[in-house]
Amino acid sequence: GELATMMDVGINDIISKCMMLGIMVTMNQRLDADTLSIVAEEFGFTVDFVAADIEEAIQEEEDAPEDLSPRAPIVTVMGHVDHGKTSLLDYIRKENVIAGESGGITQHIGAYGVQLENGQRITFLDTPGHEAFTAMRARGAQVTDIAIIVIAADDDVMPQTKEAISHAQAAGVPIVFAINKIDRPTANPDKIKEKLAAMNLLVEDWGGKIQSHDISAKTGLGVGELLEKVLLEAELLELKANPDKNAVGTVVEAFLDKGRGYVSTILVQNGTLKIGDYLLAGKHSGKIKAMYDERGKKVKTANPSTPVSILGLDGAPQAGDKFNVFEDEKDAKQIAAKRTQLLREQSVRTQRRTTLGDIGRRIKIGDFKELNIILKGDVDGSVEALTDSFQKLSTEEIEVKIIHKAVGAITESDVLLASASDAIIIGFNVRPAGNARMVADKEEIDIRTYSIIYDAINDVKDAMEGLLSPEM
Ligand code: GDP
Repeated sequence: GELATMMDVGINDIISKCMMLGIMVTMNQRLDADTLSIVAEEFGFTVDFVAADIEEAIQEEEDAPEDLSPRAPIVTVMGHVDHGKTSLLDYIRKENVIAGESGGITQHIGAYGVQLENGQRITFLDTPGHEAFTAMRARGAQVTDIAIIVIAADDDVMPQTKEAISHAQAAGVPIVFAINKIDRPTANPDKIKEKLAAMNLLVEDWGGKIQSHDISAKTGLGVGELLEKVLLEAELLELKANPDKNAVGTVVEAFLDKGRGYVSTILVQNGTLKIGDYLLAGKHSGKIKAMYDERGKKVKTANPSTPVSILGLDGAPQAGDKFNVFEDEKDAKQIAAKRTQLLREQSVRTQRRTTLGDIGRRIKIGDFKELNIILKGDVDGSVEALTDSFQKLSTEEIEVKIIHKAVGAITESDVLLASASDAIIIGFNVRPAGNARMVADKEEIDIRTYSIIYDAINDVKDAMEGLLSPEM
C-alpha cells in the first residue's frame, strides 16, 4: 500500500506484479528490502533506504571499558507547581561553589553545571517539570540520570507530584526527594513522608531506600546536603563516558538570536565536542564557530555531561534532537538532507503504536510482553478498583502494568507519557481535556473511555486474547 502511494501506481498493479514474480502479497503486507527493490525496479524506480543509511552513518560504536571515565550526573528537577522547582534551580545556580568564581551563573542557557566544594560536578537541566522531561523522552532522548522531585512541606503530595513520580518511574530514573520550604512555620515534612510511605515510596527516615532531604530553596538550608545525596545516588549508577572520541548528545534548546544567528544549547553525553567540528543536529548541520559555557565564557572543548551553547548551525534543531559529529561537512549536510526527506515521508506514513485492538495479534506472534496502561478516573474508588482488576489480567506471557493512575481528566501530559512509554490510556468517567485529544491523534495514542467498570475490564481482557476487533 505504502509503496503504491510512493510510486503513484495502483495497489492491484503491485499485487499482480508480485504474483508474476512468484510472491503472494496483500495490501498491508510489509515487504523485505530485497523484494521492495525488485518490485520498485519493475516500475522503473530505484529504492534508496534512507533510514538505514542514516542509522549506519550515525551508529555509535560501543566503548571499550578501559576507555571509559566517570562523568557527572545529569539531573532534572520536577514537582507540583509553586513547590519551588525554579527557586531550587536558581539557588544552586547563584550560590554555586566553584572555587574562585564569584557571582555564579546569571544567564539561562537551558542547562548548567556546578562543582561542589569536594570537587564533584552535577549538571542540571534548567527546564523544570515533567512535561519537558517526558516530551524529550517521547522524542527518543533519554538525558536525565536522576530526578529531584520537590515537594512543599507546607502543602501536600499533589497531583503533579504524583505525575512527576510516575514519569520518573516510567523512565526508570531514580528519584531523590527535596522536601522544600521547611523555613515556613507551617511546614510539616513528616506529613509528606508519611504520605509518600502510603504510596509505597519509603524514604530513608522511614526505613526505605529512597533518598530525601529537607531543604529551603529560599535560604539554602539543606541544599548542599541534598546535592550530596544526589551524588551518592549517582555513584550507584556508575555513570561513565569516553571522552576520547567525537561527541554525541542531545539538543536542550535552540533559538534565533538577531545578532549571532542560531544559538543551540546542547548537552554532550559521550565524546568531546570541539570548535570546528561539523555537527548534525536533527535536520540541521554546520561547523561550530564558537562555544560558550553557562557563564557566557568562550570554551574550546566540551567533554561528557557538559552543556554548551554553540554557534554555527544552519537552523534551530528541536529540544530532544540527537546530535552527532562528522569528519567532513559534506557527510553532515547529506545526512541532514536525507533526514528532512525522511521526516517528510514519515509524516505521510503511519507509525506503529500500541493500540488495544492490535495487542492480541502481537501477543500471538510473541512481539509483546508488557501492556502499559495510564489510568484516569473520576474518583479514587474506581481508579483503585480498575487498577486491581487490570493487574489481575496479567498472564505468564504478558504483564499488565499501570504506569500512572490518578483522579482527573486525561491531560496532554498523560498523552506524552503514553507516547514516551508506549502505553494506552484508559479513562473512567473522564474525557481528554484541553489539547489532549489533538496531541493523542498526532502521536497516535489509543485513548479509551468507559463509564462501566465491567466494560473496561472486558475490553482489555478481550484485547489480550485477541478477541477485540481492531477498530480505534
Ligand atoms: P515552581 O513553580 O515549582 O517553580 O515554584 P517557584 O520556585 O516559582 O516557587 C513558588 C513560590 O514559593 C515562590 O513565591 C517562591 O519564592 C516560594 N518558595 C520557593 N521555595 C521556598 C522556600 O524554601 N521557602 C519559602 N518560604 N518560600 C519558597
